[in-house]
Amino acid sequence: MRARSGNALLVIGVLAAALGLGPGLAEQLVIVRGGQARTVPVERERGYAAAQAALLAGALGFGWTGRAMEMDGESVVFEAGSPFFAVGGRVFQLPNPAYLDGSALRVPLSWALDWLPEQRPRRWRYLDGRLVERPPIAVGPPRRDGWLVVIDAGHGGRDPGTIGVRGTREKDITLAVARAVASRLERQRDIEVVLTRDRDTLIALADRPRIAQIRGKEGPPDLFISIHGNAMPKKPSSTRGVETYFLAVAKSEHARQVALRENSALEFETDGPEEDLEPLQFILSDLQSAGNIRESRLLASVIDRTMSAALPTPTLGVRQAGFVVLADATMPAVLVEVGYLSNRDEEALLRSSPYQAKIAEALADAVVSYLGEYGQRLWSSNGAGGR
Ligand SMILES: [Zn+2]
Repeated sequence: MRARSGNALLVIGVLAAALGLGPGLAEQLVIVRGGQARTVPVERERGYAAAQAALLAGALGFGWTGRAMEMDGESVVFEAGSPFFAVGGRVFQLPNPAYLDGSALRVPLSWALDWLPEQRPRRWRYLDGRLVERPPIAVGPPRRDGWLVVIDAGHGGRDPGTIGVRGTREKDITLAVARAVASRLERQRDIEVVLTRDRDTLIALADRPRIAQIRGKEGPPDLFISIHGNAMPKKPSSTRGVETYFLAVAKSEHARQVALRENSALEFETDGPEEDLEPLQFILSDLQSAGNIRESRLLASVIDRTMSAALPTPTLGVRQAGFVVLADATMPAVLVEVGYLSNRDEEALLRSSPYQAKIAEALADAVVSYLGEYGQRLWSSNGAGGR
């Protein structure tokens, strides 16, 4: 854990460099809204980071009246020369004053990086050096033309994932299994499948749940399954078996270690390794209140049951841990560790197509039976829904 605003400014500098801006060019604040990144120039003429209020408001999607931001029906009023600002009837203080540069009002960046995520945590959060707007969270009714299922093959590209005893790369196993699951699910008339990747590429963890929208499908997906391969820190190891995770605060040290290892894929994205995982804790309450956790746990237990019946390997049960890949999912979402690459025998199994087909069969069966039960719950709670 580091001091948030100091770290934030450091990351902004790093991002400016990552965007290809040479030295001497201005720092930028990156704001992600509706899946699109916008940048606001950062000034330091008074010795602290500040940004032009009008540009900041524009990037955040707020109105700007010349003196106040219109934030979701509330006015945020700044005053040049004062560290105080007013929201509704309440007055807040910033570490530094707002000021005029010509006729343009500049506000300290701490307003956007500290005050906003703290006061509006359901809407804004600060993650990976960017201020990100959270999408509205809802477990909606299924679309009338069927279910949309996202299958995520873990890792890819320059991120190989874990490496097995004989050198098997996790990213190859996850892709093979994901493809096999997709082809089985596509045989179902009312299920549409999107693969987050269908070749050896790297997709940013936070983008994975959004892939379906990115590809231009209508409406949010109904289900998100991320496929991974497991490993013990020391190999070879006798530990083997399947583990299914849903997103929540890790309950056991083992679950925490698995999440840490999978989250380390962040290191392959831009300049991410500096970011700690605290923001994840920060947004869990959002997901919990939306019923996603409950549905994700049910989905995980259906998968666990089905895999346990279909595979010769033990299932180590349903577990909870804080996975970044699941954090942005606005639908029931789980991560399945299909076996241990650090176990000689299991590695050999995981490399074989017949065994990959067995795993895929079990996962597809679990999805079909979960959607049947889930659909009924939605029907009874919404009174409308899919066929
Ligand atoms: Zn993995």
